[in-house]
Amino acid sequence: MSKLKKKYADTKKAKAITTITQSVKKKGKIKGKNKRETKTLRGMCPHHIINKKGNLKKRIITEVKELDGKNEGYCFCELCGEAWPMRFMEKDDVKEATASFMELVNQYKFASTEIGSSSKNVDYGAQLGAMLANFPKMYNRTANIVEKQDSVKKKKKNKSGDSANFGEWKIRR
Ligand SMILES: [Zn+2]
Repeated sequence: MSKLKKKYADTKKAKAITTITQSVKKKGKIKGKNKRETKTLRGMCPHHIINKKGNLKKRIITEVKELDGKNEGYCFCELCGEAWPMRFMEKDDVKEATASFMELVNQYKFASTEIGSSSKNVDYGAQLGAMLANFPKMYNRTANIVEKQDSVKKKKKNKSGDSANFGEWKIRR
């Protein structure tokens, strides 16, 4: 097994990747049974699929956008249509953004329970809160690994296929 195949062996076991690969219809876009399912699937999208050869492939295009007079690199996913900045957020900003979203989750958790919402709706809030509580840690770990890989790549150009080439990924300032 090649080094690259080995690297992605476990990654490819992610249910999200299988589900999204199966939900990609003609034109290469995600499509569910109905609007609601399409929305859920888009929210799940890991921005990669497994191709016919069984390799993990990213499905993004990168572009530069002007934001507040500055040029910022963006990734745009062809599967789900979402866009996000290439540059990772600073630790403190990640904490702040997560805390701000957590306020919404807390409002929802409290209110949905208080109004006597369905157990499904209450559990939805609980799951979201539990996932979000770990988000800064997960995000920062991943950002640190990308930074490390990027600095290694500057020394040694990576020629391989699969998903190892991040292209023009920009990292923390
Ligand atoms: Zn996507």
